[in-house]
Order: sequence, then structure tokens, then C-alpha cells
Amino acid sequence: MGIVDIRECTVPISRYADPALPSGGLTTSVVALETDVVRDGQPVVGYGFSSFGRFGQGGLIRERFAPRLLQAAPDTLLGAARSNFDPARAWRAMMAGEKPGGHGERCVAVGTLDMAVWDAAAKIAGLPLYRFLAERIGAALPESPSVAVYACGGYAYPENDIGHLTDEVRRFHDLGYTHAKIKVGAAPLAQDVKRVEAVTGVLPADRLAVDAMNTYDGESCRAAAAALAPFRLWWFEDICDPHDFATQADVAAAYESPIAAGEALFSLAEARLLNRYGGLRRGKDILLFDPVHCYGLSHYLQIVEAMTAEGWLRRAFWPHGGHLFSLHIVAALGLGGSEVNPFCFQPFAGLADGATVVDGITVPPDAPGIGFETKAALMNLIRASV
Ligand code: MG
Repeated sequence: MGIVDIRECTVPISRYADPALPSGGLTTSVVALETDVVRDGQPVVGYGFSSFGRFGQGGLIRERFAPRLLQAAPDTLLGAARSNFDPARAWRAMMAGEKPGGHGERCVAVGTLDMAVWDAAAKIAGLPLYRFLAERIGAALPESPSVAVYACGGYAYPENDIGHLTDEVRRFHDLGYTHAKIKVGAAPLAQDVKRVEAVTGVLPADRLAVDAMNTYDGESCRAAAAALAPFRLWWFEDICDPHDFATQADVAAAYESPIAAGEALFSLAEARLLNRYGGLRRGKDILLFDPVHCYGLSHYLQIVEAMTAEGWLRRAFWPHGGHLFSLHIVAALGLGGSEVNPFCFQPFAGLADGATVVDGITVPPDAPGIGFETKAALMNLIRASV
């Protein structure tokens, strides 16, 4: 049993349902990891991509991490029974020779390939990822793997921003979402307050989160927190530079409603720093670590374990991503819930074709693996790319 080929391609993605709107030149990497295992007459191929917001990782994947997987002795990638790949051993093969620290974005390249390894392993086992993962970590699954989800979007529109924004949130509601998240921080604060006021006319404020995408400095962060506090929002996310723990702790000491952090921290070491110095309040605040961006699921499991050992509850974890991979992870680990991007970052984001959300709850697909194959437009793109 072995990996016979790894193909990768960088593809554009958009923050908007209409990809013609300017979106900052965002890209993501797609990988296909072909194995010599045959199921239903076809070789098993695991797929992965780089989640959203950090651009493609083609150079690191091609030059460093894919060759290590391909050159590893096949037995070193397998589990004890030799009947399947062991994603943790594949992860160690990719990280061979890497020093601690200096995370940069190598974590995203590793996470992209790690996603493909998990997809392949779950397909070989004939299980949807959430079941494969739950079995592997010994987690008991409820009868129905239902997951709380919220809809994410609400980027600033270049024209008629408030009109488009409120339409978008109404569409979230019509699709069955009860909670939503919109972006702030790109416009002057007064405009952002107008955006929040407009959306709270459509959705109760305690069901609305805002995401500042780490854009505020110390002064503007405090001003924004003061302006947003009266709304008592669901949460206030990525409030300042991800490494400015002092500002975050200051704001957390004065801002009563929940704060969400961790999306732009990519390692267990950084998670420990956030826990120690970020001023977050266990039992109230939200942890956003993206399983792809922080060296993949194999490393994310260590972050969840370490943070829960420090007293965090699993319900505090709402992983960034808004795609099927996160959905499976939330279902298997019993985390708080999952972001879903119903309209942006297509065709990677969102749920399986035909999947429904009822009162803010959905279930992951039951197809083997992550279920890329349940999204026709995504599979068309993948087949055309890798
Ligand atoms: Mg965010």
C-alpha cells in the first residue's frame, strides 16, 4: 500500500458569490493524493485544499512536503495493521527535519496535504471522515451526527453595501441558518456600526457575530469594542493583530460579550501563548483555530487536547473554514459548531449538494471520506485542475 502520485494546482477563489467583484486576488491550493489502493475498480484518491484566507501553497507543497510523502518508505506511512494509512505517521514523514517555531505558512502547506491523507484513509476504510475520525480517537458518536452551524459572509460590497448585506443575511435565514457572521474593520467604524444596526434589523443581535479580520490596531480596537458593546453581539472575532495579546487582553477585560480568537494562530505553541496571555475567558470566549491552517487535523487534535486540559470546553471550539472538512471534525470531536460559507469561496465552501440546514443544525455527508464527491461543481474544478 502506497502513495503513487501527488498533484497540486493553485486556483483562484472569491469572497463573493459573484466572482467578478474584486476579492484581493485570493487563491487556494488543490491537491490530489493518488494511492495504489483500489475501491470500486478505481484507485483511491484523497483530495485536499488550503482552506481560505492564506493563498495557495504550491511552492512548499511541490518542493518540500509532497516529495517527503512520496519518498517515505511505504510501511512508515501505515497503521499497525498495515491495512490503511496512518495520518499521524504521514504527518511525521512530512515534518521530517523541520525545526520547531518559524511556522510561517508551511503549516498551511502541510495542512493541505494532511487533509488529502485523511480523505484517502477514510475512503479506504469505507467511512465518512467523521466516523473514521471518531473510531480512531475512540470518541462515542451520537445516533445522529448533527452539527450546529452558522452562516458566514457579509464582506463589504463596493456598491449598495447595506442593501446587499441585509439581502445576504435574509438569504442565510431562508436557508435555515439561525446565526450569522459578517465582516467589520474594512470600513470606517461609523459605517460598520450602520452595517451592524442594519443586520440586527434582520437577525437578533445575540445571533450575530462580527469579524474584524485582525485589522484593528490597539486604539481602533478599543474604539470598535466600545461602539459594539451595546449590541451584546454573539461574538467579536479577530479583534486585533493575532500576536498582540496585550491589546486583546485589555479589550477582553472591558468588553463583556464573547470574543473569538485563534484563526490566525497556526500551532500548538501559539495556542498555548493565546491561552496564557490573550486574556480570553474560559466558559465565555470562542476558539477559532483552522484545522487546515494549523498543520492539519493531525496537529489540530493536539491543540484541542492541550486546550481542554487547560480547562477549555469543547463547545468553545468553532473552527474556521466553512467547508465539509471542518464539519466532519466538529461532528467527530463534539465541538461547539461549524462555520459554513454558503455563498463565498465557492465551490470549495458550503455543504454537500442538496444538504439542508434546519434551525441552524445540519449533518455531514455519509459518502466515504470528506465528501468532495457530493459537490458536483467542486469535483468539476478538481478534475480540471489536478
Ligand atoms: Mg475570522
